[in-house]
Amino acid sequence: MDHVVVVGAGLAGVRSVESLRGRGYEGRITLLGEERHRPYDRPPLSKAVLLGTSDDSFVDTDLAALRADFRPGVAAKSLREGVVETTEGDLPYEGLVIATGSEPIRLPGEGPQLVLRTLDDAHVLRAALVPGARVVVVGAGWIGAEVATAARKAGCVVTVIEAAATPLSHAIGEMGARTLPWYEGVDLRLDTMVSEVVEGGVELVGGEFVPAHVVVSGIGARPVLEWLADADIDLHNGVVTDEHLRTSLPGVVAVGDCANWWSRRFQTRMRVEHWDTALNSPDVAAATLLGEKAVYDPVPYFWSEQFGHMLQYAGYHPAGGRVVYREGPKWSAVWLTSEDRITAVLAADRPRDLVQGRRLIEAGARLDVERLVDPDVTLRDC
Ligand code: FAD
Repeated sequence: MDHVVVVGAGLAGVRSVESLRGRGYEGRITLLGEERHRPYDRPPLSKAVLLGTSDDSFVDTDLAALRADFRPGVAAKSLREGVVETTEGDLPYEGLVIATGSEPIRLPGEGPQLVLRTLDDAHVLRAALVPGARVVVVGAGWIGAEVATAARKAGCVVTVIEAAATPLSHAIGEMGARTLPWYEGVDLRLDTMVSEVVEGGVELVGGEFVPAHVVVSGIGARPVLEWLADADIDLHNGVVTDEHLRTSLPGVVAVGDCANWWSRRFQTRMRVEHWDTALNSPDVAAATLLGEKAVYDPVPYFWSEQFGHMLQYAGYHPAGGRVVYREGPKWSAVWLTSEDRITAVLAADRPRDLVQGRRLIEAGARLDVERLVDPDVTLRDC
């Protein structure tokens, strides 16, 4: 294999380059990045960059030393077997890594709305978060909660509008209610739907108008797939892969936010928009491209820093699973199967529960529920 093309220069794209070289691949690598920036990490955008304690979050890597032909500002437009069509002409490949990530979903309406996905988005939003500004954040998910944190800290008048009955309901269900006290000083409106963004604010279903100087939508993201629309490749909520991250096209793998892989551990398909996936899936994909046997079978991991709290989640829980709450000012929750095997853990300012829980999930451990409800008993001893 003489030439690998990596499409997407986010974390997963860069890690693909590093992994290919780390595994001894000596051929050409071309890294295409639609953005004009060199690769950067996104988690700090809604934290340090928005809070003003950092201006950027560039990934600490040396693309020149890795002998990668990095082409910023060049996008893939379509794919046919063996050729990526780019904004700067055709690029033949022998191996291809799809690492195009995901993009924010926007609200309907003609009024101005901001999103937070790129470094440029973060700079625009940071400049708008001035004391006294009326900020409406739509969505109390991970991004919405972190934006509300920064806006409150900047002295803005913050309203968060959430369609569900609790914050974070999409990700952690009823446990999201445990974060309600954190919203002190924020006008949090639950069970409330925005119908559209209009000039000067948002209109709610039912007709109420909520005024705002700044509207930020944090209502979720979708995988970036448009450029693959005419390609003969399986797409379903992302680029469909097997457990080796191999797509339906020969010599093509997918990684990071845009990959929908088969999880051997959880016996289900997974597409996970988490930094940890972008960090670790590329090494398996690189091995697969190089003909080595490797399986991507993680216990997915995510963290969020919101309202002065560290929230961490590891694992996977299907809807309706049983959840056990470990009460306290620093609390956690554990999801169990019908056989009392731990399948997911959520920890609020209890990093030890997260670390131990993740290991227990990896081991497929059964826990004693009576001990589990006592937060003074370490998870390892349950
Ligand atoms: P991306 O980072 O989306 O990178 C994909 C790149 O591909 C982009 O630069 C895009 O421009 C480029 N691209 C797209 N289409 C094309 C094309 N056709 N041609 C060329 N290039 C293309 N996760 C956590 O676990 N914890 C957190 O606290 C956390 N915080 C976050 C905060 C923010 C604001 C955001 C946006 C995400 C956060 N995440 C967090 C999620 C995490 O950052 C993502 O899971 C991770 O960035 C995914 O990396 P990726 O490389 O797969 O995709």
